[in-house]
Amino acid sequence: MALMITDECINCDVCEPECPNDAISMGPEIYVIDPGKCTECVGHFDEPQCIQVCPVECIPRNPEHIESPEQLMQKYHALMAAKNNA
Ligand code: SF4
Ligand code: SF4
Repeated sequence: MALMITDECINCDVCEPECPNDAISMGPEIYVIDPGKCTECVGHFDEPQCIQVCPVECIPRNPEHIESPEQLMQKYHALMAAKNNA
């Protein structure tokens, strides 16, 4: 499952640089997570780094992007392959 940022976000900026997949960016009003890039940190870390640093705990799992650990690992490999070919 990818993660998502809710409207409780206070735009504190701390999560964006922590994301190993560059999945977090500033949206129109609050920060947003690109579900195509979020692997829940699978492949990089044991725990989602953005959840660890968010001071207001506004990053739940996105129910519209349900993925198994295996699918998240596949996404990680696809992202790495794309990065290496860039
Ligand atoms: S869980 Fe990891 S990959 Fe997903 S947005 Fe947070 S830091 Fe980025
Ligand atoms: S760490 Fe939490 S509050 Fe801060 S910008 Fe990211 S999602 Fe928003």
